[in-house]
Amino acid sequence: MSQRTDIFDLGRLGLHSGEGRRIDTLVDVDPLEFGGQRYQSVQRSVPVRLDVSRTVGGYALHMTLTAELEGPCMRCLEAATPSIGVDAREVDQPHDGGDELSSPYVNGDELDLRAWARDALALALPAQIVCSEDCLGLCPICGENLNEAGPEHEHEAEPDPRWAKLRELRFE
Ligand SMILES: [Zn+2]
Ligand SMILES: [Zn+2]
Repeated sequence: MSQRTDIFDLGRLGLHSGEGRRIDTLVDVDPLEFGGQRYQSVQRSVPVRLDVSRTVGGYALHMTLTAELEGPCMRCLEAATPSIGVDAREVDQPHDGGDELSSPYVNGDELDLRAWARDALALALPAQIVCSEDCLGLCPICGENLNEAGPEHEHEAEPDPRWAKLRELRFE
């Protein structure tokens, strides 16, 4: 395990076309904004595995990492610590296929590993971050945490004045 990497110099690997190298390093995980909430990595730096393949005109890259995030549960607002796995690929072939094969994270021989990790992590987030899959959330009437209140928590149905009006109409 080497030290932290923000910008990785692909050129120093000295790869020829068709050659590849696996690199294990650490990358800083920047805080994420998601659903109006803020999530940050429990560990400032997380282990990342990078597979670099040299192609004729550039690089093919594969990154895997797992980050444990912490932030509020989107249902009950208590702490949630989702573990997010990232498995992302990039191809940078600027001299070959035009813009669609040029990676925004590769500039010459420099890979912006930190920016790629941040964006890939944001894309890997689930639709909703929860403290547990069966979190009951907050009571929509009084705001109590239903995980603590228990299943017997309920409210007397308040008669809504608009419904009362409708009932009057029906009996006319
Ligand atoms: Zn929850
Ligand atoms: Zn309630």
